[in-house]
Amino acid sequence: MSWPGATLLRLAGQHPIEAFRTPFESAYSTAMPIRQLSETMINQIAAGEVIERPASVVKELVENALDAGASRVEIVTAGGGLNMIRVTDDGSGIPEPELALAIARHCTSKLSENIHDIRSLGFRGEALPSIGSVSRLSIRSRTASGDAAAEIGIEGGRVSAIKPAAANRGTTVEVRDLFFATPARLKFMKGERAESSATSDVIKRIAIAFPAVRFTLAGSDRSTLELPATEASADGSLRRVAQVMGAEFPANSIAIDASRDGVHLTGHVSIPSFTRANALQQYAYVNGRPVRDKLIAGAIRGAFADVLPRDRHAVTVLFLTLDPATVDVNVHPAKADVRFRDPGLVRGLIVGAIREALANAGIRAATSGAAGMMAAFRPGSYADASPANGHRSYDAAYRASGFAGFDRSPQRPLDMGFDGFRENDQAAFDAGPLASADARAGTAEPAETLLGTALGAARAQVHENYIVSQTRDSLVIVDQHAAHERLVYEALKNALHSRAVPSQMLLLPEIVDLPEEDAERLALHSETLARFGLGIERFGPGAVAVRETPSMLGETNVQQLVRDLADEIADNDTVETLKERLDKIAATMACHGSVRSGRLLKPEEMNALLRQMEATPGSGTCNHGRPTYIELKLADIERLFGRR
Ligand code: ADP
Ligand code: MG
Repeated sequence: MSWPGATLLRLAGQHPIEAFRTPFESAYSTAMPIRQLSETMINQIAAGEVIERPASVVKELVENALDAGASRVEIVTAGGGLNMIRVTDDGSGIPEPELALAIARHCTSKLSENIHDIRSLGFRGEALPSIGSVSRLSIRSRTASGDAAAEIGIEGGRVSAIKPAAANRGTTVEVRDLFFATPARLKFMKGERAESSATSDVIKRIAIAFPAVRFTLAGSDRSTLELPATEASADGSLRRVAQVMGAEFPANSIAIDASRDGVHLTGHVSIPSFTRANALQQYAYVNGRPVRDKLIAGAIRGAFADVLPRDRHAVTVLFLTLDPATVDVNVHPAKADVRFRDPGLVRGLIVGAIREALANAGIRAATSGAAGMMAAFRPGSYADASPANGHRSYDAAYRASGFAGFDRSPQRPLDMGFDGFRENDQAAFDAGPLASADARAGTAEPAETLLGTALGAARAQVHENYIVSQTRDSLVIVDQHAAHERLVYEALKNALHSRAVPSQMLLLPEIVDLPEEDAERLALHSETLARFGLGIERFGPGAVAVRETPSMLGETNVQQLVRDLADEIADNDTVETLKERLDKIAATMACHGSVRSGRLLKPEEMNALLRQMEATPGSGTCNHGRPTYIELKLADIERLFGRR
């Protein structure tokens, strides 16, 4: 009994049950007869769900423009969209006789008789009437065949008469004083900047799916946007992605293109060394509709689980295309949620396609890493320094770049750990460490076949952790510890998934109480779970007994593990959780079992490590997503020395 009125009610001599009611119930609920709500009130209730903030208005209006086949969509806002939002398109327009219907509830031109065959962004026929019930809305429109435009208005639900107007073909929808009719909602708005940036996000998200449409956003603040049209092709799509997300994403991503049982997946995912601290840069589309879907997000996480640390997120743009009848978009009025008829198929396709693409891309380091390094080297960045101290700055740049192997100061000779190559300090100083390392490696010209490999011929080991190697057209530096850790991890994982995982008997079986459906679901998957070393069986209604757990997990919270698994099976119909946990343990073990930096390697050992990296998918990054090697193109090096 938390609210203060309860005590008062009791004091007033009411029956204790009465005292549990809120003042609203006791005052009104029994007093009012049932009646039909007014049209405006119905629309305002609907607006509560569809129109959460200015960005939702923009989303609905832009969707309408795209459904009308627009090739240009212009958005103007004022006051973060709360004062004014205007969306102009060059689409099909609305015929004058239909203007009144456009703002009437449950009126749409997009849905025939079949709710299972939705091919447009809109279909519910409620956006315009909802917006019109909480703001001052006007629509001015002209069709290709109409000889003039016409305009209709609606203010807080009150419709005005249709007037003639002047306009080109297409439609302009203007929304003023959003939420003036529902002040409670107005109070929740965050401030102009936050609303503007939400609006710009909405446009970016949708624009990725419509590369051939030109979008512009102008606001009273600086959140303007200009996305020129590109062509509707794979190339155009990638160019639009670059417009929205920046050019470094395409440069650091791999293309995805896969199909399974009528579901088609295309798009791009970042390479593992190009990540973000949150999942906001993950864009997903189902039949061209931007969605925020748990299943897709989970599949992306699963696909990258191996190559990214827990707190880093891939950057992705994924387009799913499938028969509209096999996906339900009518889940929520905002239409951002979807339900797949076969979630296992969709998840499997996404995880499989991404993993395969990552493996095929093989070893590839982030260009951003190498580019950053080149920038650190570039003498031009010290152009301001006077000639007198220019030399020193240059030296400092070497040091700052972390590539201390080129340090010019006299140093102790590199100890390669094998005999016959040791030189005296003077020679090392004169010839430079790299040349002397060459001499130590004993081969002036490495074998031609080695030069042709991706990671080249090992020439030296510097600072007891970095293997310097040479290909035909580049210089490669490998972090031996990170590389080896990755190789050990991949080997452990292979062992883990190629045969049954060893399990340990529990002293006493652990009984886990669960909702009956969960227990049933777990029992259905018991065979798969057994392969992962989890021995589980039904234990009467609403419970399972766990008799064995994977030995690798050691002491583990069985209750939690089983519940997580039940949730995951319910969500995705898979048992990724267990697999992910085991992979994570493999990663931890790999970290302990790998070559520490500081261990001196013989040339054969170095070359063997490089060859193993080339043969191992995913070895371009360590288990924490950092690159295991960087490559400097000879052309870039020559440019640094002004030779090009
Ligand atoms: P829905 O998009 O779900 O059909 P709306 O309330 O958003 O519902 O729009 C109602 C109808 O108004 C649409 O079905 C369409 O016929 C028409 N309409 C709205 N905006 C436009 C536009 N920009 N261009 C052409 N027709 C439009
Ligand atoms: Mg609509």
